[in-house]
Amino acid sequence: MQCVVIGSGCAGLTSALIMAKNGYNVTVVEKSVRTAPLLQGFERKGFYFDTGVHCLSGLDAGGPLRSLLEYLNVYEKLTYLPFSKDNSFAVHFPDGLVWQMPQGYDALQTSLVALFPQEEKGIKAFLQEVRALSHTYQYNADFQAIATHPLASKSFKDVVEQFISEPQVKMCLGILSNLFCGLLESEAPFVFFASSIGTYFRSSGTFKGGGRALFEAMQAELTNLDGRIVYNNGVADVIVDDNRQATGVVLDDGSYLSSDMLIATCHPACLSDILPEASLRRVRKTYYQELESTTSLLGVYGYTTKPIEELVQSNVIIASDTASADDVLSAELPIAKRQMLITSSETTKHGTSISLFTPAAYTEWARFEGKKPHQRINGYVEKKHAVAAEIVLAATRALPELKDYFSIVSVTTPLTIKDYCNAPYGAGYGVKHSVNQLPPTAAFPIKNMLLSGQAIVGPGILGAMTAGFVTCGDILGHTHLQSEIKNAVK
Ligand SMILES: Cc1cc2nc3c(=O)[nH]c(=O)nc-3n(C[C@H](O)[C@H](O)[C@H](O)COP(=O)(O)OP(=O)(O)OC[C@H]3O[C@@H](n4cnc5c(N)ncnc54)[C@H](O)[C@@H]3O)c2cc1C
Repeated sequence: MQCVVIGSGCAGLTSALIMAKNGYNVTVVEKSVRTAPLLQGFERKGFYFDTGVHCLSGLDAGGPLRSLLEYLNVYEKLTYLPFSKDNSFAVHFPDGLVWQMPQGYDALQTSLVALFPQEEKGIKAFLQEVRALSHTYQYNADFQAIATHPLASKSFKDVVEQFISEPQVKMCLGILSNLFCGLLESEAPFVFFASSIGTYFRSSGTFKGGGRALFEAMQAELTNLDGRIVYNNGVADVIVDDNRQATGVVLDDGSYLSSDMLIATCHPACLSDILPEASLRRVRKTYYQELESTTSLLGVYGYTTKPIEELVQSNVIIASDTASADDVLSAELPIAKRQMLITSSETTKHGTSISLFTPAAYTEWARFEGKKPHQRINGYVEKKHAVAAEIVLAATRALPELKDYFSIVSVTTPLTIKDYCNAPYGAGYGVKHSVNQLPPTAAFPIKNMLLSGQAIVGPGILGAMTAGFVTCGDILGHTHLQSEIKNAVK
């Protein structure tokens, strides 16, 4: 049986591994010039830079991401590097407060209560609710129980406001949801928040070698299972027969691959480019095309020759300088006031590689798009470098050393994410999993074709990987897959 997977990102590779483990002949097809552009970072000036893998959650013993990687025989090929127990994230607020966010619910609670003793009762009650629902991302969660949970229809804002009044506490609790899911307090469904961000509260870290090591481990296992990856040669057309059944794909170079099962992990808005005109009802096509996406990001990559203590097993977050929780992700704010994540991918004897990310609007950059992908209009490079200088200056608020010791090696904009990751509007985290829209499911109206990827379950490596399991579980049987995971997990 042939299985073709569209997209070699985390969800595509996860789906490929599961299908190959279950006897399918798998080919992963990637449109980008590189495989897994979000997993594999890049090298410049002797430094490695991660692109879409900086902070991972749920890798502690028994954690949801670890269990899935163990089942895939991938975890054993990697070395987990947990962030500092006492300070996984140093959050810098505009008023000068620096909150060292520890790992683990108890430590988190103690640290927040020490800072905001007047909110003790609320902090405890809120974290208890998060904890109670934090298992919901796990592939074997009881989804029925989740759907009927009393908080199922509430947003993060609804729930946090029940317990807490101090805006800074709310910001402390919600900031990872802004950064890693692209969601505002009022947009994040509480159950989604508890499951995605709850795993960061539980544990956070990365792998030695970052996203590249994760990619290489997944690729090696796929090779063991006789799977293959074709890249720089995307799916141009899905072939659908008269019974509305997908039978194969035609690639950009004109070659044909037949498929008994087709899994599409691309952004759902891309589907109309590759499906025959009449294969989807108009209402369905419009739904996929009009799904709201998350904001985009600007990235500045560089290195310092001086080690930066704050970035050893830790990350720095600069909270946005705005009074309104609805503006924290706004690209309308001047760069100096925007939220920022500062991380390090590696430290060598030559120095430390550092990445700075801040929200950005695609619309602000669209005027620089040329007629073809990767083509830019004059003025783009100048604008990119001017903005990068502003970002570095804003980062010196938290890390003054960057002023004298930071050299920029690359700057990415929403157009970079759009072209390299084939992400419509350069969305940083794909489809928005907000209270305002129903996310797509794996089920698809064309036979032998299913959807997967961050749009289905949620963004992040955990979300994308879980999506691979949800989709393959729909094909192979959830009971079968869940019991296989149970047997494989140590
Ligand atoms: C700057 C940045 C930083 C991030 N940091 C983190 C982090 O620290 N921790 C974390 O957990 N998550 C992070 N994320 C999010 C995480 O990287 C993503 O959620 C995850 O990698 C998405 O995986 P995916 O497989 O669903 O999608 P993708 O990786 O986007 O895979 C989809 C693939 O489909 C391909 N494709 C599209 N159309 C076609 C076609 N027609 N034919 C063939 N291929 C096609 C695309 O090129 C793409 O490679 C970050 C994201 C960004 C942008």
